[in-house]
Amino acid sequence: MTARIREFLRHRAEDGPCLVVDLDVVRDNYGAFAKALPDTRVFYAVKANPAPEVLSLLASLGSCFDTASVAEIEMVLAAGAAPERISYGNTIKKERDIARAYALGVRLFAVDCKAEVEKIARVAPGSRVFCRILSDCVGADWPLSRKFGCEPDMAADVLEHAHRQGLEAHGVSFHVGSQQRNPHAWDRALASAAAVFRECGERGINLAMVNLGGGFPTKYLKNVPAVRSYGSAIFRSLRKHFGNRIPETIIEPGRGMVGNAGLIEAEVVLVSRKSEDDEVRWVYLDIGKFGGLAETMDEAIRYPIRTERDRDQMAPCVVAGPTCDSADVLYEREPYLLPVSLEIGDKVLIEGTGAYTATYSACAFNGFPPLRTYHI
Ligand SMILES: *Cc1c(COP(=O)(O)O)cnc(C)c1O
Repeated sequence: MTARIREFLRHRAEDGPCLVVDLDVVRDNYGAFAKALPDTRVFYAVKANPAPEVLSLLASLGSCFDTASVAEIEMVLAAGAAPERISYGNTIKKERDIARAYALGVRLFAVDCKAEVEKIARVAPGSRVFCRILSDCVGADWPLSRKFGCEPDMAADVLEHAHRQGLEAHGVSFHVGSQQRNPHAWDRALASAAAVFRECGERGINLAMVNLGGGFPTKYLKNVPAVRSYGSAIFRSLRKHFGNRIPETIIEPGRGMVGNAGLIEAEVVLVSRKSEDDEVRWVYLDIGKFGGLAETMDEAIRYPIRTERDRDQMAPCVVAGPTCDSADVLYEREPYLLPVSLEIGDKVLIEGTGAYTATYSACAFNGFPPLRTYHI
């Protein structure tokens, strides 16, 4: 927890869980990305935390933005970034949304099939497109499915189709999986990207850009390598696969940009057991899967939960949220260690919650209000 967040929480009076994001940490993270990958442009993945304060800070630092909808594009424009700094990176777009984005000045779009290329050619003529390729996501705590991207073998056909339709076949993108803990995970994807560059080159189409995606981790319970390890591993892979013709590159960090900037303060509502001699206690918090902690799905993300009693003896607990949905259990398969002395009414601090929390919280499921957020 940063000193600024501690000070803020000391003066907070309202009831209910809240997320506090320290913008100084976001600023430092942006600087660390810029330093670790000096020749790479940063396109912040807006969905990780679209708060206006985060967007305007990053806009003022010179960041570009990866967006997935017209609403996100409008939020970025409102934060002061020009449309040339925006990528419409969702491969699944309605044609009328592409037209709206084009009207707003956006000229960079993601595709992963010919049908999407044709939509863009019709309503966003002359734009740049990059083709997303599949990645196996080995090493990621939050792997991505086969929902986005095509087999690398197909990418050259998609890009050639774009070229023939009057679009600019600009490059290749991939995402190695979110919370990717292996800095070498980019190597295989870059080998595939280089193969697409060669294949397109043989067809007379010179690609210019590789979009290295997101995946940069934030620290939860386990330590993660520093961003400079990612920078050097990626640079070595670029050299290996592209030789001395390294293309223009961009990254799209989401979690790595804002995750460690946020902290949720929550409260213990109930501590109970399912039988008198049960060893495992159930700890119910006033926040759960529907209040912002959706990434505990399948227990994928294990947030550090701190209490004021952490020096006491620890014992395994099931941790659950406050709603009446039985899916609202955070950690059960692998019980979570919390102090034996933990009591009803205790405050808990959930760390690393600056990304993928507030916007995942339901409007009012079971009457619980959405997660309150403060950006300081
Ligand atoms: C969500 C997303 C990102 C951000 O991923 P992180 O793992 O949070 O860095 C980057 N690019 C695209 C296309 C995304 O959809």
